Amino acid sequence: MSRPLDGRPLILWRIAQVVLTVAGAGIFLALLFFPNIGLTAFWDVLIPIAPALFVLAAGVWRNICPLGTVSLLPRHIGLSKSRRLPLKWQGRLHLGGVVLLFLVVPLRHLMLNNDGTATALILAVVASAAFLSGVFFEWKSGWCSGLCPVHPVEKLYGEKVLVSAPNAHCGACQNCCIPCPDTTSGMNRLHTNQRIASLLLAGGLPGFIWGWFHVPDCRGEAAWQECIMAFGLPWASLAVSLALFWALRRFLPKKHETLILSIFAAFSVSCYYWYRIPALVGYGLFPSDGLLVDLTGVLPFQFVVLMQVVAVAFFGWWLVVRRPEPQAWQVRPPFAKK
Ligand code: SF4
Ligand code: SF4
Repeated sequence: MSRPLDGRPLILWRIAQVVLTVAGAGIFLALLFFPNIGLTAFWDVLIPIAPALFVLAAGVWRNICPLGTVSLLPRHIGLSKSRRLPLKWQGRLHLGGVVLLFLVVPLRHLMLNNDGTATALILAVVASAAFLSGVFFEWKSGWCSGLCPVHPVEKLYGEKVLVSAPNAHCGACQNCCIPCPDTTSGMNRLHTNQRIASLLLAGGLPGFIWGWFHVPDCRGEAAWQECIMAFGLPWASLAVSLALFWALRRFLPKKHETLILSIFAAFSVSCYYWYRIPALVGYGLFPSDGLLVDLTGVLPFQFVVLMQVVAVAFFGWWLVVRRPEPQAWQVRPPFAKK
């Protein structure tokens, strides 16, 4: 079922990178000057598409992600010091990315979901970190395969991608990470910190997502009770699912490890769409939160439930039932001559 996209001219990827980067800059400006449009485009269009894209075509996204392009800009314009990160530091960055994810996402309820300036500020900080990592470290190792908090989610969801794309960023492999996350499937677990990161993310994410969707957005200045709720509920449910994941892996035979991982990944992405689909059309737990377009007057509730069931069935089938050959996101280019 997987189809390589080799042979597609590199120029098409370059055009896509430029278009997406310009679109990213447009969303950034909209967040500042037309916050309603910017917030809707970012939180209610781009972000809801992302998990499905990671499941089906993580490599395609990694070829065109504006943040990835920004992180490699220093290398392309000859500004990078191209320092090689030892495995120990790769592990630290992977763990740091997971911790950042669980720290930043609760902030959406407290301010980011409804504040264009705050969202723009976070994006500016993240883009600066991506650029600086490209200034100091070799190729993708500092950001796109290092500290970026989205990278672990791509690794978790993108275990069985539909398409494997040529690596549009790496014309020749600089051997920036060992093993290269783009061309090996599954989360890296060579270093202790990578194993902790993988356990924390795979086990904790389903609970974290469930808890996150049960917290309402805070409009106006957040009281301390709202801060406790915004962090406490996702973290508490994260702890519960992590404990369950750990127990299953500890007490079930080792041969079931991959299956448990797939079930938890499917549960995470299914849980996301179970709550996100109704929220987009006005049937969410908190109707004004995460609303893209209010269809409550036109769309029967049963149709929304059908969409939820289809999403859960699809991701369950895709990630758990199907057994495709292990598939990397991208095709490794030849090593660079040094
Ligand atoms: S890891 Fe981060 S920078 Fe790289 S493609 Fe994913 S979101 Fe973009
Ligand atoms: S293909 Fe090579 S240069 Fe590109 S991300 Fe993988 S290891 Fe790094």
